[in-house]
Amino acid sequence: MHSKVVIIGSGPAGHTAALYLSRATLKPVMFEGFLANGFAPGGQLTTTTEVENYPGFPDGIMGGEMMDKFRQQSIKFGTTIHTETISKIDISTRPFKLWRENNEDKDPDTADALIIATGAAAKRLNLPGEDKYWQKGISACAVCDGAVPIFRNKPLAVVGGGDSAAEESLFLTKYASHVYVLVRRDKLRASKVMANRLVSNPKITVLWNTIPSECKGNGELLNSLVTKDTKTAEIKELPVNGLFYAIGHAPATDLVKGKLDLDEDGYIITKPDSTCTSVEGVFAAGDVQDKKYRQAITSAGSGCMAALECERWLSEHFAE
Ligand code: FAD
Ligand code: NAP
Repeated sequence: MHSKVVIIGSGPAGHTAALYLSRATLKPVMFEGFLANGFAPGGQLTTTTEVENYPGFPDGIMGGEMMDKFRQQSIKFGTTIHTETISKIDISTRPFKLWRENNEDKDPDTADALIIATGAAAKRLNLPGEDKYWQKGISACAVCDGAVPIFRNKPLAVVGGGDSAAEESLFLTKYASHVYVLVRRDKLRASKVMANRLVSNPKITVLWNTIPSECKGNGELLNSLVTKDTKTAEIKELPVNGLFYAIGHAPATDLVKGKLDLDEDGYIITKPDSTCTSVEGVFAAGDVQDKKYRQAITSAGSGCMAALECERWLSEHFAE
């Protein structure tokens, strides 16, 4: 199948690009992924509860519901969406070639232009015991897993000091007997409003200058963490039945490694004030190229930029 433009990824960036391109009658095709990078179609916001900082929703909106609305709007204006993951691309010549997961031996789809909006995913620490107790007390998504019985009325730990750590810790107070937040420095990275909510919650204790160094359990479930003081190197044991990672994200760039210029952390490099990548006709939008803001609204904004730049580029190179 040949398309003028293919969008890979289905978060706020991909859907905003789809909306603009479909309204421009370019009939975009989106591959929204089939659990690509560990996410349901719709991306990272499908793992959260209420989104309170996306303009237009004064009462907030659940992340999953918001992404359903994005999807409906993309379809309404003519985007074709495939619930499949793109596993391989060839962008060395045009038209660009794309292979769908589990169909790598078939003829590829082709496109004149490509928008990469594959997003990012939570990082893990790979501690001793982590694999053994992964999903048996250890998770990277409090919103997805926090309500399960093994965490009810139990002491839990969250690692990280950013907005995710604050949000996940506050969410976990609904279920936990107490939440310990392990912060590796003596300050939080979280925004003021989230940081204030975190430190003022009586069910939360912030353990400053602390990292986990080992996950221990009874063979079935996690029941404690070995922690280390990052200043004094003092080792302690913290009895907790849950460990939730909130230590940032890694961009989903395996697909484009060696094909597009990436920075030292693996993010796609885009030209200043632009979504243009190192390959003409390939644009990148959202968290996959943004390690500074990483918000739904900034992802959506860069999706809009990618669509407008793509539309202009197509009209210059493929005038009908
Ligand atoms: P993502 O949302 O990461 O989506 C990318 C999508 O592309 C995924 O569905 C993935 O499956 C798909 N994909 C990946 N690779 C492929 C492939 N090869 N083929 C096909 N599909 C693929 N921001 C806010 O503004 N407000 C908030 O309240 C807020 N809360 C958050 C809460 C949590 C728990 C997290 C983790 C993030 C939160 N954020 C929030 C940040 C926000 O979710 C992200 O900035 C935003 O979702 C990034 O959008 P994106 O379009 O770049 O990609
Ligand atoms: P983040 O802002 O990058 O914060 C990551 C945190 O984890 C930092 O405190 C970092 O410590 C710590 N960390 C990193 N590696 C670590 C390690 N190896 N060991 C221990 N700690 C480690 O990531 P985020 O909190 O996931 O937020 C990502 C983006 O999404 C941000 O832009 C955020 O504003 C947004 N977001 C917004 C909301 C909201 O507005 N409600 C909610 C969630 C996320 P250092 O500070 O020392 O580096």
